[in-house]
Amino acid sequence: MEKYIGKSVYKGTAIGPVRVLKKTESLVKRKHIDDVEAEVDRLDKAKTLTYDQLGTLYEKALQEVGETNAAIFEVHQMMLEDDDYQDSIRGMIQNEEVNAEYAVAVTGDNFSKMFASMEDEYMQARAVDVKDISNRLISNLCGDEQFDWDAMEPSIIVADDLTPSETVQMDKSKILAFVTVHGSTNSHTAILARMMNIPALVSVPLDLERMQNGTQVLVDGKEACFYVNPDDSMINLAREKQKQEAEQRQLLANYKGKASITKSGRKIHVYANIGNVSDVAYVMENDAEGIGLFRSEFLYLGRTSLPDETEQFHAYRQVLQMMAGKKVIIRTLDIGADKNVDYLGFDHEDNPAMGYRAIRICLEQKDVFKTQLRALLRAAKYGNLSIMYPMITSVDEVLRIYEIVDEVKQELEQENIPYEMPEQGIMIETPAAVMISEELAEHVDFFSIGTNDLTQYTLAIDRQNSRLDRFYNPHHEAILRMIQMTIDGAHKHGKWVGICGELGADLSFTERFVQMGIDELSVAPSMVLGIRSKICEME
Ligand code: PEP
Ligand code: MG
Repeated sequence: MEKYIGKSVYKGTAIGPVRVLKKTESLVKRKHIDDVEAEVDRLDKAKTLTYDQLGTLYEKALQEVGETNAAIFEVHQMMLEDDDYQDSIRGMIQNEEVNAEYAVAVTGDNFSKMFASMEDEYMQARAVDVKDISNRLISNLCGDEQFDWDAMEPSIIVADDLTPSETVQMDKSKILAFVTVHGSTNSHTAILARMMNIPALVSVPLDLERMQNGTQVLVDGKEACFYVNPDDSMINLAREKQKQEAEQRQLLANYKGKASITKSGRKIHVYANIGNVSDVAYVMENDAEGIGLFRSEFLYLGRTSLPDETEQFHAYRQVLQMMAGKKVIIRTLDIGADKNVDYLGFDHEDNPAMGYRAIRICLEQKDVFKTQLRALLRAAKYGNLSIMYPMITSVDEVLRIYEIVDEVKQELEQENIPYEMPEQGIMIETPAAVMISEELAEHVDFFSIGTNDLTQYTLAIDRQNSRLDRFYNPHHEAILRMIQMTIDGAHKHGKWVGICGELGADLSFTERFVQMGIDELSVAPSMVLGIRSKICEME
């Protein structure tokens, strides 16, 4: 038995076979090869494999998302077979006697740059596709295994690191736990694990090369421990813990159907955070009163082009209809920093957390923003929707947003498309927003405090940097005073205020938040009943 200690992202115990998720080295090295023919042969085999994989993906997408969305995989097949693309790769292998991986990487880069520089928008968008195909081809040349989620038995996923876009693409029903060698406890991947109610550890010092798929492993989320080949006593202990966890869940289930009211009669709204339409199931299972944060950007991740108005409208409408009149707060696109969207082609940034993200992108890329707003306003007819804008730092930004919303309303009216105007609120997640919260409150319907970013920006700590995890302290007195200031600012103008950052789920602070005057807490679905029980038990 081997024991490793990491950092806990989400408590809970899991036992099962391990599945190592290997990723292609992003840096492909140039190597000299002696046998050119054998190298071309290797390329041909990888090409056939890639072509077949794209065919399988097409069939799967056809079933799940329809013909229009599936068509992209057929386009990828055509691009893979394109003569110019193939000739260029072969030419490099033969003339420069280099390895196939290197020839594909260079050709992929060149073709991608060529597409990106074209006038036509459709052709520009192909830049990402050619990169995607080249990466898949390289991955097959390296012998990387493509994950077949359907064939996999429920497993504990172990990886070097996981990006939010990789995480959203996974089949959650097959994941018993997540374990990563790198990664921070405050990243969006960690947040996703909490949302999915899956035990998770990060910063576990594992040697992935030595890890064999299928080996029995054990994750103890509470103690932040990972065991390889646990002995019988460890397994028995873990099973006992799982039993206790199930009993605890059973106890909390008694709070289903109850309101979250303190003994003295103060009602707090306890809502849930989600990232995808399918997460609504967790919201219902845990009897949340509403959705306090739908991170809509997850609809934009793990794909090769923007979701269009119809796709977004369907997603938002579905959530609203499933929630049947309960409040649903959808946050507009908050990409940037760790939530990368390659297909928008933004330049590399040295300091992305403080960079081009969220509302800053939306105010500049008006078309992208307007598409989302149109979908939201149209969907608002189907339930109790509120819109929330992220990363606000000034009143001026709010007023500019309202101008764009007005344009969208006028356009919908001109086109005779039915819509409704939802409530509009903002995230308070920058120190600037806290300091001017009183002024901001005059212009919006509600506030939701994003303690994850507020902690990052107040303490000057990159939430992605796992080395700084022990300095990242959302309990810092500065953060608590800022929360108080925000609540006071909102209440002065009769507006309600909630917390949707991870601190909102910290049971050791629930009582303090209620004393501070908080009106709403929006937490991972699995935390809803715990928070409710705490509120019901307090004076
Ligand atoms: C926050 O910053 O607290 C928040 C809720 O938003 P996100 O974690 O998605 O940045
Ligand atoms: Mg945030």
